[in-house]
Amino acid sequence: MAEPSCIFCKIVRGEIPSERVYDDGLVMAFLDIHPIAPGHTLLVPHAHHENLLDTPQDLLAALLAAAPRVARGAMAAVGGEGFNFFQFNGSCSGQEVFHLHFHIIPRRPGDGVRYQWRQGKYAAGEMAALGAKIRGDIPG
Ligand code: 5GP
Ligand code: ZN
Repeated sequence: MAEPSCIFCKIVRGEIPSERVYDDGLVMAFLDIHPIAPGHTLLVPHAHHENLLDTPQDLLAALLAAAPRVARGAMAAVGGEGFNFFQFNGSCSGQEVFHLHFHIIPRRPGDGVRYQWRQGKYAAGEMAALGAKIRGDIPG
Protein backbone atom coordinates (compact mmCIF):
# COMPACT_ATOMS: atom_id res chain seq x y z
CA MET A 1 0.00 0.00 0.00
CA ALA A 2 1.41 3.41 -0.93
CA GLU A 3 1.03 6.68 0.95
CA PRO A 4 0.54 9.50 -1.60
CA SER A 5 2.60 12.10 0.25
CA CYS A 6 5.45 9.77 1.29
CA ILE A 7 8.79 10.58 -0.30
CA PHE A 8 10.05 6.99 -0.08
CA CYS A 9 6.85 5.65 -1.67
CA LYS A 10 7.55 8.08 -4.52
CA ILE A 11 11.12 6.79 -4.74
CA VAL A 12 9.90 3.17 -4.80
CA ARG A 13 7.47 4.03 -7.62
CA GLY A 14 10.19 5.91 -9.51
CA GLU A 15 8.33 9.23 -9.30
CA ILE A 16 11.35 10.78 -7.58
CA PRO A 17 14.80 9.88 -8.88
CA SER A 18 17.11 7.85 -6.67
CA GLU A 19 20.34 5.93 -7.05
CA ARG A 20 18.83 2.47 -6.72
CA VAL A 21 21.38 -0.23 -5.89
CA TYR A 22 19.13 -3.21 -5.06
CA ASP A 23 15.55 -4.22 -5.80
CA ASP A 24 13.96 -7.65 -5.46
CA GLY A 25 10.40 -6.48 -5.94
CA LEU A 26 9.62 -6.58 -2.22
CA VAL A 27 12.42 -4.48 -0.80
CA MET A 28 14.81 -2.01 -2.38
CA ALA A 29 17.90 -0.01 -1.47
CA PHE A 30 19.12 3.37 -2.69
CA LEU A 31 21.85 5.81 -1.75
CA ASP A 32 21.04 8.31 1.01
CA ILE A 33 20.95 11.82 -0.46
CA HIS A 34 22.95 13.19 2.51
CA PRO A 35 25.50 10.47 3.28
CA ILE A 36 27.08 10.19 6.71
CA ALA A 37 29.86 8.21 5.06
CA PRO A 38 30.56 7.06 1.47
CA GLY A 39 28.17 4.30 0.45
CA HIS A 40 25.46 5.30 2.98
CA THR A 41 22.47 3.31 1.74
CA LEU A 42 18.82 3.11 2.77
CA LEU A 43 17.01 -0.23 2.68
CA VAL A 44 13.21 0.05 2.47
CA PRO A 45 10.18 -2.14 1.83
CA HIS A 46 8.15 -1.32 -1.28
CA ALA A 47 5.03 -1.22 0.88
CA HIS A 48 4.47 1.78 3.12
CA HIS A 49 4.84 0.99 6.81
CA GLU A 50 5.70 3.75 9.23
CA ASN A 51 8.23 1.92 11.36
CA LEU A 52 9.31 -1.39 12.84
CA LEU A 53 6.20 -1.70 15.00
CA ASP A 54 3.68 -1.81 12.17
CA THR A 55 5.62 -3.86 9.62
CA PRO A 56 4.54 -7.49 9.04
CA GLN A 57 7.05 -10.12 10.14
CA ASP A 58 7.50 -11.65 6.69
CA LEU A 59 8.46 -8.25 5.32
CA LEU A 60 10.89 -7.71 8.19
CA ALA A 61 12.40 -11.08 7.33
CA ALA A 62 12.80 -10.02 3.69
CA LEU A 63 14.48 -6.78 4.77
CA LEU A 64 16.87 -8.57 7.10
CA ALA A 65 17.66 -11.15 4.44
CA ALA A 66 18.57 -8.41 1.97
CA ALA A 67 20.52 -6.31 4.46
CA PRO A 68 23.80 -8.30 4.53
CA ARG A 69 23.86 -8.55 0.75
CA VAL A 70 23.35 -4.81 0.30
CA ALA A 71 25.88 -4.13 3.07
CA ARG A 72 28.48 -6.34 1.39
CA GLY A 73 27.99 -4.46 -1.88
CA ALA A 74 28.18 -1.05 -0.23
CA MET A 75 31.30 -2.02 1.73
CA ALA A 76 33.01 -3.51 -1.31
CA ALA A 77 32.29 -0.39 -3.35
CA VAL A 78 33.88 2.02 -0.89
CA GLY A 79 36.48 -0.17 0.80
CA GLY A 80 34.47 -0.49 4.01
CA GLU A 81 35.66 -2.91 6.68
CA GLY A 82 32.47 -2.81 8.74
CA PHE A 83 29.15 -1.03 8.73
CA ASN A 84 26.53 0.47 11.01
CA PHE A 85 22.99 -0.77 10.64
CA PHE A 86 20.38 1.33 12.32
CA GLN A 87 16.87 2.54 12.16
CA PHE A 88 14.66 5.11 13.88
CA ASN A 89 11.12 4.72 15.24
CA GLY A 90 9.19 7.89 15.98
CA SER A 91 10.18 11.55 15.71
CA CYS A 92 11.63 11.60 19.25
CA SER A 93 14.14 8.96 18.10
CA GLY A 94 15.23 11.07 15.14
CA GLN A 95 12.97 9.54 12.48
CA GLU A 96 12.32 12.08 9.75
CA VAL A 97 10.84 9.97 6.97
CA PHE A 98 7.93 7.89 8.22
CA HIS A 99 8.39 4.96 5.83
CA LEU A 100 10.39 2.19 7.47
CA HIS A 101 14.04 2.29 6.45
CA PHE A 102 17.31 0.86 7.64
CA HIS A 103 20.52 2.85 7.33
CA ILE A 104 23.51 0.88 6.08
CA ILE A 105 26.65 2.94 6.64
CA PRO A 106 29.98 1.47 5.56
CA ARG A 107 32.80 2.20 7.99
CA ARG A 108 36.56 2.32 7.71
CA PRO A 109 39.13 2.62 10.47
CA GLY A 110 39.72 6.29 11.29
CA ASP A 111 36.89 7.51 9.07
CA GLY A 112 35.98 10.19 11.62
CA VAL A 113 32.29 9.23 11.81
CA ARG A 114 31.03 9.83 15.34
CA TYR A 115 27.70 9.09 17.01
CA GLN A 116 26.79 11.04 20.12
CA TRP A 117 25.97 8.27 22.60
CA ARG A 118 25.68 9.51 26.17
CA GLN A 119 25.85 6.38 28.29
CA GLY A 120 24.55 6.35 31.82
CA LYS A 121 24.92 4.14 34.89
CA TYR A 122 22.48 2.07 36.96
CA ALA A 123 22.07 2.53 40.67
CA ALA A 124 22.16 -0.66 42.78
CA GLY A 125 19.14 -2.86 41.96
CA GLU A 126 17.89 -0.56 39.24
CA MET A 127 18.92 -2.79 36.35
CA ALA A 128 17.24 -5.87 37.81
CA ALA A 129 14.03 -3.92 38.55
CA LEU A 130 13.92 -2.52 35.04
CA GLY A 131 14.67 -5.91 33.52
CA ALA A 132 11.74 -7.43 35.40
CA LYS A 133 9.44 -4.63 34.28
CA ILE A 134 10.44 -4.98 30.62
CA ARG A 135 10.00 -8.78 30.76
CA GLY A 136 6.48 -8.16 32.03
CA ASP A 137 5.73 -5.53 29.38
CA ILE A 138 6.86 -7.49 26.31
CA PRO A 139 3.67 -8.48 24.48
CA GLY A 140 3.06 -12.21 24.11
P1 5GP B 1 15.62 9.26 9.23
O1 5GP B 1 14.13 9.27 9.03
O2 5GP B 1 16.19 7.88 9.32
O3 5GP B 1 16.06 10.13 10.37
O4 5GP B 1 16.29 9.97 7.98
C1 5GP B 1 15.82 9.86 6.69
C2 5GP B 1 16.99 9.74 5.74
O5 5GP B 1 16.49 9.83 4.41
C3 5GP B 1 18.05 10.85 5.88
O6 5GP B 1 19.33 10.26 6.07
C4 5GP B 1 17.95 11.63 4.57
O7 5GP B 1 19.21 12.08 4.12
C5 5GP B 1 17.34 10.60 3.62
N1 5GP B 1 16.51 11.21 2.61
C6 5GP B 1 15.50 12.10 2.82
N2 5GP B 1 14.93 12.45 1.66
C7 5GP B 1 15.59 11.76 0.69
C8 5GP B 1 15.45 11.71 -0.74
O8 5GP B 1 14.60 12.36 -1.34
N3 5GP B 1 16.29 10.88 -1.41
C9 5GP B 1 17.23 10.14 -0.78
N4 5GP B 1 18.01 9.36 -1.54
N5 5GP B 1 17.40 10.16 0.56
C10 5GP B 1 16.59 10.97 1.29
ZN1 ZN C 1 5.94 5.38 2.07
